[in-house]
Amino acid sequence: MAAIATTSSLSNYPRLTIAQYRDQLSQTDKANKVDVNYSYRGKSYRYSIRLDKTACHFGNYRHWWLCPKCSKRVAVLYCAGIYVCRGCIGACYGSQLQTKTDRIYSKLNALRERLEWSEGIINGIGSKPRYMHHSTYNRLLTEYEQLEQKLIRSFT
Ligand SMILES: [Zn+2]
Repeated sequence: MAAIATTSSLSNYPRLTIAQYRDQLSQTDKANKVDVNYSYRGKSYRYSIRLDKTACHFGNYRHWWLCPKCSKRVAVLYCAGIYVCRGCIGACYGSQLQTKTDRIYSKLNALRERLEWSEGIINGIGSKPRYMHHSTYNRLLTEYEQLEQKLIRSFT
């Protein structure tokens, strides 16, 4: 697994969050890219960043960036000339292991484990484990959705 930078060590990079485009993307469910046009350190850039979407609990879709470098689904991209995910930007996982965002990620993955879903929020919402009560499942699912919202808000 690639080193993941903490949000604090990435604060020097311009960022592009999918949340910034939420309104624009909600106009159409066919959007599969966003055109960007900017200059960075005296050089101009103009290209499209591809999007992906996953179904979420309430029958809506959640959009993600596809990192232009590694095609990983992410909610935030960082500018290193072109925008890339935090795995690609090459920043090291520092000593600030327990940033707010990392804590949310850990909680989300702990919930995923209880729900028997494969690790990593990019895998989306899974199904109910066979032997779990519906009430337990619904409670965990609600908790999961709330954490995921919190995660998205922490990037904006
Ligand atoms: Zn990447």
